[in-house]
Amino acid sequence: MPELPEVQTIVNDLNKKIAGDTIVDFSSEWPKAIKNVKLPAFKKAIIGAKIKAAHRIGKNIFIDLSNEKTIYIHLKMTGHLLVKYQVSSIKYKAKEKDYFDDRVNQYIRHRWTLKGRNGKIKSMDFSDVRKFAKIVLTDTDKIKEIPEIKALGIDAMSPEFTFKKFNEILEKKKNMPIGLLLMDQSTIAGIGNIYRSEILFEAGILPGRKVASLSGQERIKLYKSIKKIMEKAIKLRGTSDSDYRDTAGAPGGFQKVLRVYRKQGEKCQKCGTIVIRKAIGQRSAFFCPACQK
Ligand SMILES: [Zn+2]
Repeated sequence: MPELPEVQTIVNDLNKKIAGDTIVDFSSEWPKAIKNVKLPAFKKAIIGAKIKAAHRIGKNIFIDLSNEKTIYIHLKMTGHLLVKYQVSSIKYKAKEKDYFDDRVNQYIRHRWTLKGRNGKIKSMDFSDVRKFAKIVLTDTDKIKEIPEIKALGIDAMSPEFTFKKFNEILEKKKNMPIGLLLMDQSTIAGIGNIYRSEILFEAGILPGRKVASLSGQERIKLYKSIKKIMEKAIKLRGTSDSDYRDTAGAPGGFQKVLRVYRKQGEKCQKCGTIVIRKAIGQRSAFFCPACQK
């Protein structure tokens, strides 16, 4: 599932590629994905509106429109957005076309047809193999009232997520294993299965450790590791361990620098000890039993 760095990459791309464009059409072969309105009402609300900007909270994407409406998208397991220029457009890159031929980019369930400020037509296609992704139409000023958004904890990359705040969270969740806490969206939003393992390896902390057992030094190291791994993953445009692709259909780069995630049975890159896989909560955590204490 796309986590904070993948969603941030998509949001950054959308702001570069489609901000200022006008929505001229929308079509869907899977209208069930639109959760709160019927397809005709959804089309009526968005066609003719301009795209103001994209932003995110946790793993949730928001596309604000000029008519005070917002399209809220959750990519779930396999969803991703592809911005395609018409072949005649000078912006169209041959390389992007090759990426669009990739199997994971072929499951187009929804298409927004857009008109750029220069009059050129492009599209934002929503590819989603498993069809779990969802789309919700909302008023821009009511984003925070959406139940799923209301239920979220602090975003891991927001300026409000300071060490002080992190430490307050730790104080409240003393009995939780740290590997579970990092993934708990109602506490800290944005970190999922891939990055919790990478963050804990960076910090040298075992995922099964109880929060109460973390020393002051370890807490500082862990906080810094969250920021460091998130920043590095955003810089590398996310991790494509399966279906995630950016808006050009291209894979991210972080899978090339993963150190423990899905490396079970392989030698730790730091010390040579075999990397272990163990269920923490519902999902597998990956760690080096020697580097992590
Ligand atoms: Zn190691």
